[in-house]
Amino acid sequence: MHDFEVTILGCGSATPSLLRNPSAQLLNVAGHSFLIDCGEGTQIQLRKNAAKIQRISHVFISHLHGDHYLGLLGLLQTMHLLGRKTKLTLVCPPELKEIIDLQNKHSQTTIVYEIEYIFTNPKQAELVWEDDKIEVKSFPLRHRINCTGFLFKEKPHLKNIIKEKLDEFNVPTSQVNKLRLGFDAINEKGKTIANDKLTVSAPVQRSYAYCSDTNYYEEIIEHIKGTDLVYHEATFLEAEIERAKKTFHSTAKQAATIASKAEIKQLLLGHFSARYGNTDGFIIEAKPIFENTLVAQEGQTYKIN
Ligand SMILES: [Zn+2]
Ligand SMILES: [Zn+2]
Repeated sequence: MHDFEVTILGCGSATPSLLRNPSAQLLNVAGHSFLIDCGEGTQIQLRKNAAKIQRISHVFISHLHGDHYLGLLGLLQTMHLLGRKTKLTLVCPPELKEIIDLQNKHSQTTIVYEIEYIFTNPKQAELVWEDDKIEVKSFPLRHRINCTGFLFKEKPHLKNIIKEKLDEFNVPTSQVNKLRLGFDAINEKGKTIANDKLTVSAPVQRSYAYCSDTNYYEEIIEHIKGTDLVYHEATFLEAEIERAKKTFHSTAKQAATIASKAEIKQLLLGHFSARYGNTDGFIIEAKPIFENTLVAQEGQTYKIN
């Protein structure tokens, strides 16, 4: 089974701080290297974490507040200077293309590799990308400007064949593809052999959701229902709930409430305001509502099992 894991590169909110970098994470899924948001300083964070920049095939940008994308122009330029040959796909708000085009125009740069754009829709959930192993959906969040979250989910796995059973029931190998899809087999004597005698079930489909900047928004629940690991912003603690409302952010308790209602497996809190030196308060406020809560730590990798 492929690795499915996320490395936190930045989990601070808007104001730069010596403690935390702005939002960015590297998701390793089904052999792909995906970057999710790209705040200022992401290139340095990628290097610190020994990530291979040119291996990144897709960048997912949640919204156009600077703390979520200002590192992207630099990253695109580095890929250019290093002579990247492969296409880079940007899944992002449409306005980001204007910003990138303007930068390239005034720096008189013609990027040497192809950039493919897939625009997110802030109004409704959409499938934004898929291959034979995974699918990625975007879904609306509620923030001061258009903002989307992303759900990364494995596709149903094929069933695993029990080789000794093929011999035992005289099933020819020509039946294997059918069996892996879940159909019964016909053996050499023309007899039907039930699928469950010859196969074992595939591992469950793993999933990861990224809920970027948002205030308490129950519409998120349907999109992340049952997800294995959810990163949800928790910019503030409960004492700042009014401030959270005004700035379209969430508290730790609100994030935990969403996690609990969506019956997810594990919650990872992030996007902490620079006012909080340590994150103990986030755990103290979230755990009574949703026990399986972690606070994000930069440089840490979280496995999705
Ligand atoms: Zn932010
Ligand atoms: Zn924002």
